[in-house]
Amino acid sequence: MVSNCVFCKIINGDIKSDVVYETKDVLAIRDVAPQAPHHYLIIPKLHIPTSQDVRDPSIWANLMEVLTIVAQRMGLVDSGYRVVINCGSQACQSIFHLHLHLLSGRKFGWPPG
Ligand code: AMP
Repeated sequence: MVSNCVFCKIINGDIKSDVVYETKDVLAIRDVAPQAPHHYLIIPKLHIPTSQDVRDPSIWANLMEVLTIVAQRMGLVDSGYRVVINCGSQACQSIFHLHLHLLSGRKFGWPPG
């Protein structure tokens, strides 16, 4: 728990969020400023600042397991979805607590802008 971290506060219950799925290690919530009709954040409960700071590979397994469960439950599999990790300032990471963006419900461009 890092006291000035928004996602730690959400995990701790100090900030309300719209939880769509939860396990012992991972929380999945709706993004407050959705960039697509479906936009979820898959967040490890352990505070890890960026994707470069993961030391235990089971963190990735847990995050991807929850991401695929949420995609299935929300009916995103047939149409498809995009997974995004922003790492660092040039990639526009704004909250330095690791999270996966799960986006779906519209056509995305490639390459990303
Ligand atoms: P990033 O820019 O990759 O760090 O993404 C941070 C994401 O967190 C953005 O998409 C924000 O809209 C989202 N966000 C910020 N505060 C909250 C919140 N309180 N509840 C849900 N999502 C949030």
